[in-house]
Amino acid sequence: HSKTTSRGRTTVYSTEHEARIRSERAIESALQNADYNQEFEVHFQPVVLLPERVVVGFEALARWDNPVLGKVPPDTFIAIAERTGLIHRLTVALFKKAVSQITALPHDLYLSFNLSAHDITNAETVAALLEIIRGNGIDPRLVTFEITETSVIDSYEAAETCLRTLRAAGVKLALDDFGTGYSSLGYLHRLPIDCVKIDKSFVAGLREPVASGVVTSILNLCRSMQINCVVEGVEESDQLAVLETMQCRYVQGYFFSRPMPFDEVRNTLASGATIAGLPIGNAGSLA
Ligand code: C2E
Ligand code: MG
Ligand code: MG
Ligand code: MG
Repeated sequence: HSKTTSRGRTTVYSTEHEARIRSERAIESALQNADYNQEFEVHFQPVVLLPERVVVGFEALARWDNPVLGKVPPDTFIAIAERTGLIHRLTVALFKKAVSQITALPHDLYLSFNLSAHDITNAETVAALLEIIRGNGIDPRLVTFEITETSVIDSYEAAETCLRTLRAAGVKLALDDFGTGYSSLGYLHRLPIDCVKIDKSFVAGLREPVASGVVTSILNLCRSMQINCVVEGVEESDQLAVLETMQCRYVQGYFFSRPMPFDEVRNTLASGATIAGLPIGNAGSLA
């Protein structure tokens, strides 16, 4: 649209809204001009197997530190990258980095990587991800791609095709933020899902019967469908204790560790073969 129109429109917006648009534009142009290999990092958050309390893998989480804007949260820049068509380039750069870092470690740890809506409807992105796996030589069974039901909703057909292609190559699929969308159960049934990640909002309310009932039900559902289940957002020891009584197998959260830069992962592993004070388990057994 023309400048006159957009200028005419901004006059009716609140200054707060105006500021947001301006900052989105700044982020957009910074994203456009970013050096993807320099400004972006992947942080790694351990995934812990219970009751053994061993680390079996990591979720890769994108971090952006721009020389002008400073740190921009992933929720923000991923959404903007999606809207502006920059997501393909970003996803490929991040995945390449994450795979090469995790395989540089002397352990068989699995890598869980988040994909966005555009990624899982784009055959080119899927081909690029599989090419990275092949080129690196990582066992595809150690790679999980996390998707959300909201990312599947808009173009279900295209998403299903892409997800089946990924799965046929041997990688695993996880449904992220489970329980926060509209029809979790429908997707669980229709898509080739290997793992469910229970959203952290349920853990926050674990002391209340409703939230704990939901978590118990999802865990039981997963057991009966033979799907793995990771509970996200475990921050306190009493939450962990409750989850242990529910026979929950996989947990992730600040209680164990925040997402860490790769150097920190590598250095702590080198100094004692532990991560966040926990020994390393064998993720190969999951494959
Ligand atoms: P997500 O995939 O659901 O990731 C979990 C988020 O919860 C992460 O936020 C993580 O740092 C945070 N978290 C982990 N443990 C705890 C805890 O105990 N308590 C609390 N309160 N939070 C915890 P983060 O890193 O800010 O990422 C936010 C979202 O951005 C992610 O949610 C994911 O949807 C998206 N994202 C991050 N990296 C990527 C990426 O490389 N690609 C795509 N497409 N999306 C990404
Ligand atoms: Mg995730
Ligand atoms: Mg999540
Ligand atoms: Mg999310």
